[in-house]
Amino acid sequence: MKGLIFSIEEFALYDGPGIRVNVFFKGCPLRCRWCHNPEGLSPEKQIVRSPNGCIGCGACRDVCESPESCVLCRKCIITCPRGLIRVCGEEWDSEALAKHILKFSPILSNGGVTFSGGEVLMQADFLSELLDRTASLHRAIETSGFGSTEAFERVLSKTDLVYFDLKVMDGEKHKLYTGVDNAVILKHAKMLMHSGVPYVFRVPFIKDVNTDEENLQRLKAFLSEAPTPPTVEFLLYNKMAGAKYPLAGMAYTEHFEQPDEADIERAKRILRAFNISFRK
Ligand code: SF4
Ligand code: SF4
Repeated sequence: MKGLIFSIEEFALYDGPGIRVNVFFKGCPLRCRWCHNPEGLSPEKQIVRSPNGCIGCGACRDVCESPESCVLCRKCIITCPRGLIRVCGEEWDSEALAKHILKFSPILSNGGVTFSGGEVLMQADFLSELLDRTASLHRAIETSGFGSTEAFERVLSKTDLVYFDLKVMDGEKHKLYTGVDNAVILKHAKMLMHSGVPYVFRVPFIKDVNTDEENLQRLKAFLSEAPTPPTVEFLLYNKMAGAKYPLAGMAYTEHFEQPDEADIERAKRILRAFNISFRK
């Protein structure tokens, strides 16, 4: 079957062991206010314009016959004298994409493939086929955990490593910052903890969003339910989160702050029983 991909990184050194091919699925049901991949949000193909190098000639606007609702006619792409405009989102057949990934097998012996997004569970059938077709490699997924339980269970059974986000523990606050409640996410996180599949919990760590004592204590209580102490990576908020929004024709209006030393020390104190690390 076919799926929509917005990027493929062929020699990635993160999101799993060794050298990896990282495949980014297009479309996400969450709207995290700190998201730094706005081109991954829409589940549709879209026009993106690089603002760097634009000479303001207006040719792209002049040629467009449907400025209110893009019909992907691609006239602006052909017209731009600087080649700054492209379609983001490429349709791939799972068989063709798996073949493309497996071409790199000789250099992926200590690594593998990581499926990321967007949200991979939004294209669960496509992901499931890709996991089957790349079974000779180490297969990792990155997920928010938001999706159907049937899909999550199916995907989990074919995955060698799961990176799973635990953004905010309180349901109301989670909805405020991501647009969705976290009940199903926490349910899937518990399933993951008892699945026997290796996993890493990831926390995007953002000052005054989830750095407070209450959130960290609730995280501690949740992690304590795991049969063995979980590994938790804190990803320190990146002040450059808004950099790609102009590319997707969107404005970034949030003003989040990076956690300070006191926030990091608080997390270390409360979560000392777990394998925690901090990444920029
Ligand atoms: S592809 Fe470009 S020219 Fe065509 S409708 Fe979309 S924005 Fe307009
Ligand atoms: S056609 Fe290209 S260079 Fe001209 S305004 Fe549009 S994006 Fe800028």
